[in-house]
Amino acid sequence: MDTELKKKLAGRLKEYRLDEKVSIMEVCGTHTTEFFRTGVKDLFPENLRLVDGPGCPVCVTPNDYLDRAIEIGKLGAVIATFGDMIKVPSSYSSLGEEKAKGMRVEVVYSPVDAMALAEKHPDLEVVFLSVGFETTAPGEASAVLEAKERNLKNFSILPGNKLTAPAVKALLDAGEARIDGFIIPGHVSAITGADVWEFAAKDYGKPCVVAGFEDYDLITGTLALLDLIRKGDARLVNGYTRVVRPGGNPRAREIMFEVFRPADAEWRGIGTIPGSGLAVRDAYAEFDASRRFRVTPPEPREHPGCRCGELLRGLIVPTDCPLFGKACMPERPVGPCMVSTEGPCAAYYKYGR
Ligand code: SF4
Repeated sequence: MDTELKKKLAGRLKEYRLDEKVSIMEVCGTHTTEFFRTGVKDLFPENLRLVDGPGCPVCVTPNDYLDRAIEIGKLGAVIATFGDMIKVPSSYSSLGEEKAKGMRVEVVYSPVDAMALAEKHPDLEVVFLSVGFETTAPGEASAVLEAKERNLKNFSILPGNKLTAPAVKALLDAGEARIDGFIIPGHVSAITGADVWEFAAKDYGKPCVVAGFEDYDLITGTLALLDLIRKGDARLVNGYTRVVRPGGNPRAREIMFEVFRPADAEWRGIGTIPGSGLAVRDAYAEFDASRRFRVTPPEPREHPGCRCGELLRGLIVPTDCPLFGKACMPERPVGPCMVSTEGPCAAYYKYGR
């Protein structure tokens, strides 16, 4: 898109006339950060409010998942994880604290790295923390397929993957937050196809726009959503057609559902959502760390004062949390929303203060 056109569209967003307050939700953690990083949020007209949804995988992972990973680590397994998870507080500790005490916790950039670690150290059990949405689950499923193919006996994943659309449906069913329309994650839709979001428009009357992640995607996506809201036109619009194809990516879904099956899952702040998680199928049980290691984690607990749960339900914004920027900062986070690169509190802290 040429710069003149972009300037024109940015001007249109800035001058957009909203006679009443409008609240839109970005479902995805990457959108949360990109709205700030690109400066598009600064273009928002006065009456437009952006609320964050349950789209940061690290943020929505409940404490008891990390408690379980720590108990598995205490049995001597190597815990292989994306870097974000290290600092996330569990109920009573964190992987970082446990590493400092001697637990083997390794930062990896993909499940394939974790598999390589297992191959290099056949005497060690390597457990990959499989946390993510539809975007990462096909890669994690591929790793399991490859591990089976290579007959790797010391590699497993701790399943914590989730599906995004059921969480949005749960928020709409709860009806707690004011949401006039949704900015829908482009990368998730590239896998699922845009039509999995159709229900929000058809059944709940909420306009939805699938958007990409560049500044012009965010500007055009927001403008398209505001136009739909203004016209009362509850439709799903794919504003990211260069990536999101009709039907999504069937091959990626095939791989994902070869290894995983839909299951109920627990979301931080929301609770159990039917069919919103991915459990490892019985055919791959040997690669499922939750079945391979029988551990009893301590009773999970939340951190006093942390309002991540309300944040992930779109009820507050990070600056409404009394701990924001005081007791809770990226270097000593109280909740996961301040840790993850996709976390709303981290985005507000870095770009929005
Ligand atoms: Fe949780 Fe910290 Fe965000 Fe408050 S500022 S909601 S304690 S992560």
